[in-house]
Amino acid sequence: MKRILITGAAGFLGSHLCDRFIKEGFKVVGMDNLITGDLKNIEHLFKLENFEFYNHDVSKFVHVPGDLDYILHFASPASPIDYLKIPIQTLKVGSLGTHNLLGLAKAKKACMLIASTSEVYGDPNVHPQPETYWGNVNPVGPRGVYDEAKRFQEAITMAYHTFHGLDTKIVRIFNTYGPRMRLNDGRVLPAFIGQALRGEDLTIFGDGSQTRSFCYVDDLVEGIYRLLLSDYHQPVNIGNPSEITISQFAEEIIKLTGTNQKVIYKDLPVDDPKQRQPDITRAREILNWEPKVSREEGLKITYDYFRSLSQEELYKSKHRFE
Ligand code: UDP
Repeated sequence: MKRILITGAAGFLGSHLCDRFIKEGFKVVGMDNLITGDLKNIEHLFKLENFEFYNHDVSKFVHVPGDLDYILHFASPASPIDYLKIPIQTLKVGSLGTHNLLGLAKAKKACMLIASTSEVYGDPNVHPQPETYWGNVNPVGPRGVYDEAKRFQEAITMAYHTFHGLDTKIVRIFNTYGPRMRLNDGRVLPAFIGQALRGEDLTIFGDGSQTRSFCYVDDLVEGIYRLLLSDYHQPVNIGNPSEITISQFAEEIIKLTGTNQKVIYKDLPVDDPKQRQPDITRAREILNWEPKVSREEGLKITYDYFRSLSQEELYKSKHRFE
């Protein structure tokens, strides 16, 4: 039986990865310091013999007793308003945290997969973005703490691969959505659905002409699973190439939720990328992967999840670092 460490286990993506690896018959060790994660996302796993959990900050030395075959590093604040409010932790988990986990992977002779991001492309001048594009990132802008930590993470991971011969994988994750996103995490999908459910107007930042491409979480997890089991070491984009403007996205949420509210316009955050769409040629060729879940289907499942939350949860929308 293979044993896997998943950092960020109580987060949105981490918790779905725990579920998938448990389902595939792995022993799963979850780790999270719960600054942005929530134990509610994994509480159903605590009764299982093949699941254990450590409340630990991976920016500090990481000790895990016993063998490990794989490490998935998914610990990091991942929403723009989170990393604006906790910039130093964001830098540390991507840099010091990654270094600690690479050391652990080397000691355990484990394969390590890191969660990188479309943010390594910054506000891209090449569209759609292939893995060969080096990006357009402002290192000292508000997003720099996340983007540069993730770029450093890729660099140190590649160095451990070439210098120490460590088996490493790099996934560049584009906007992903699904159940267990935090209603108050500030990202566009929970923001719009939360506003619709509370009877508030939907806040579009800027003029709404900026684009994003949204991938349903199960598709993303499938791509990561395939990449982990592959023998490919260069970065791979995983995301859904179906691109829409934020204005069109607001219209889709209004239709889905049946809200009578309107859209209102607010200032565009500094360095907000104007366009984003993954070029997934590499994932298609190497992993034989492409997304299967349409936005219509995925949004419906996600809306049902948000609708099932309690009123208390719905109105606890104030950001947790305020
Ligand atoms: N956005 C918006 N209204 C909101 C939240 C976000 O118009 O209430 C915009 C945001 O400015 C960005 C896009 O939606 O252009 C996606 O933002 P998100 O925070 O989800 O993630 P990003 O892709 O920017 O990391």
